[in-house]
Amino acid sequence: MKSRAALLYGEGQEFRVEEIEVDDPKQNEVLVHLAATGLCHSDYHMVTGEYGPLHFPMIGGHEGAGVVEKVGPGVTRVSPGDHVLLTFIPACGHCRFCSMGLSFLCDRGAAILQGPQLDGTFRMHTADGQDAGQFCCISTFSEYTVVPEASIVPIDKDLDLTKVCIVGCCVPTGFGSAVNRADVQPGETVVIFGIGGVGINAVQERTGLLFSDGMQTTGSPAEPVAAAFPQLHVVATARSPESLARCRRLADLGRGRCAAAGSISEIPAAVNSCLAA
Ligand SMILES: [Zn+2]
Ligand SMILES: [Zn+2]
Repeated sequence: MKSRAALLYGEGQEFRVEEIEVDDPKQNEVLVHLAATGLCHSDYHMVTGEYGPLHFPMIGGHEGAGVVEKVGPGVTRVSPGDHVLLTFIPACGHCRFCSMGLSFLCDRGAAILQGPQLDGTFRMHTADGQDAGQFCCISTFSEYTVVPEASIVPIDKDLDLTKVCIVGCCVPTGFGSAVNRADVQPGETVVIFGIGGVGINAVQERTGLLFSDGMQTTGSPAEPVAAAFPQLHVVATARSPESLARCRRLADLGRGRCAAAGSISEIPAAVNSCLAA
């Protein structure tokens, strides 16, 4: 079937929206009609080359939500018409780590940057017949996509697909970093370096966050964040001496806990800011 998708043809290039061909789902695969996709910095790493060599062209997108259009042989989790969330790491449910409850370490995760589906063949193709890689096996930058059954999570039909789509990456990454890794407790003072999709999802009522620090590298979203969360102290960039001085006044930077998630290039800057304090 035909679909429009955003393809990247190589490092340093821009995504191009083109019409592509999407195959039917094969064994244990699902064809999904996407309603919405998230746009996360991890997609940009394809452009900057931080993942190393990839199969180009590659169709981006690693978090999305939609409706099951068709299922391949052997699929048992969902049927056509079901609403689903797509996750960037498959969870087969059977490997050693899945059976230990550590599905984020699923053996199938080794394949997510390689391009083809888990059986080594491609489901998406350019109009001139080139095989197109699928980022994280799901490629949510497409109207239709074929994904492993292990990459879908069935969800209730009353959930808003345009909002729930970021539960595939940004929400668990940001909220999970704050609550599960940093073990933030209500009332504690927290500094967030970067308030993109991941950072803003660390801001949840339970964490009682006091301080958020937006990076200019994410397009300076400080003002809308400050308006939406008046309890936060928002500054424009964490890299200026003034910003760090303000952090030190509000939070005891250099003591406490640090959890890192998000942009590969910004994590060292955040950690070094704490070390320098
Ligand atoms: Zn992401
Ligand atoms: Zn597994």
